[in-house]
Amino acid sequence: MSEANPFESLQEQIDDAASYVDAGEDVLNRLKHPERVLETNLSVEMDDGSVEVIKAFRSQFNGDRGPYKGGIRYHPGVTRDEVKALSGWMAYKCAVVDIPYGGGKGGIVIDPADFSESELERLTRSFATELRPFIGEDRDIPAPDVNTGRREMNWIKDTYETLENTTEPGVITGKSPSSGGSEGRVEATGRSTMLTAREAFDYLDKDLAGADVAVQGYGNAGWITAKLLHELGANVVAVSDSSGAIYREVGFNPVDVKNHKNETGSVVGYPEAEDEFSNEDLLTLDVDLLVPAALENAIDGDLAQDVSADVIAEAANGPLTPEADDVLAESDTYVFPDILANAGGVTVSYFEWVQNRQRFYWTEERVNEELERVITDAFDNLVETYEETGASNMRTAAYAVAIERVVDAYEEGGNWP
Ligand code: GLU
Repeated sequence: MSEANPFESLQEQIDDAASYVDAGEDVLNRLKHPERVLETNLSVEMDDGSVEVIKAFRSQFNGDRGPYKGGIRYHPGVTRDEVKALSGWMAYKCAVVDIPYGGGKGGIVIDPADFSESELERLTRSFATELRPFIGEDRDIPAPDVNTGRREMNWIKDTYETLENTTEPGVITGKSPSSGGSEGRVEATGRSTMLTAREAFDYLDKDLAGADVAVQGYGNAGWITAKLLHELGANVVAVSDSSGAIYREVGFNPVDVKNHKNETGSVVGYPEAEDEFSNEDLLTLDVDLLVPAALENAIDGDLAQDVSADVIAEAANGPLTPEADDVLAESDTYVFPDILANAGGVTVSYFEWVQNRQRFYWTEERVNEELERVITDAFDNLVETYEETGASNMRTAAYAVAIERVVDAYEEGGNWP
């Protein structure tokens, strides 16, 4: 795994797309930096009565197209630069799928496994209290990310509403349905990765039914992608989590593997596996489709030399370094970037926010239909731009689409002193 700084990677990705966008260097420079970053030290009481000081961030990258939007992750590897990068990726992701949001991201520097549920609740409510002046359904709308989910979103909503003495479920998305969450939100990220892979195979005249698939990471995004691809007839031959990878030539039943992980804590040790190896070995398997669904920098320039997949659909944010992109652009591997392939999460967050504001709730069927329309439209737009511009890869074409939309909104609004 590479040590590449994700914020520098983001800036490089913008530079790569610059020549395809009709905007001056000054405007593009503006799009390479967050508007503001909150860094806060939370004092949290532990169960034994001691107080721990815990660092947390929220980056508001760009608000030209709408309220800042993006998740909050709990991970020991969270840094200021990582959060800045992730907030930028959110701004461009929302623009690629054309939903009316800017980009934001937050993170708390902890390993949640070291905390009890009540400690996590106090920590989350403390962060929500710090965030209160900066968030709101028209201002900045957090959501789940790595190691956070419905439970944390419900706490943040409750803290905000209590402090504001109001009901405003649209202040945060990814809640439980009883707290105003949307049907289909939990599956949405994996669903967009499946839809992107399906459209990609169709575009490349390849068959997804019978295709061999490897999925790195078996959290929410990875396992749902595996499940939905399996339903389309693909063979999920390898999956992994932070403990390692498992392989089976005829493919796994992703639901059974998930049950095993729920029971034992890992996919490793699943009885039907024929082989076990490292995450790096999984990433270089000779498969039709590779889905990196873990963290940033999974594939760097060196590892990319050994990647043999025909197609990569990125369920994680930032899993390939710019050097890996350069290597793969010279090979026969097509990379369908994160800002499209995992955009289902924020798209269904948008649907949740719309439902919250209207206080009118949709069926899961409607959510999935609308999501399919958004992702397939964005896919068509992306390949059209890729072909028209002759960009060296799909990521650069996606950034060209996204940057153009952000620049349009900025220029139409004008620069107000
Ligand atoms: N954390 C997800 C992402 O990286 C979802 C963000 C959201 O729903 O706002 O896209």
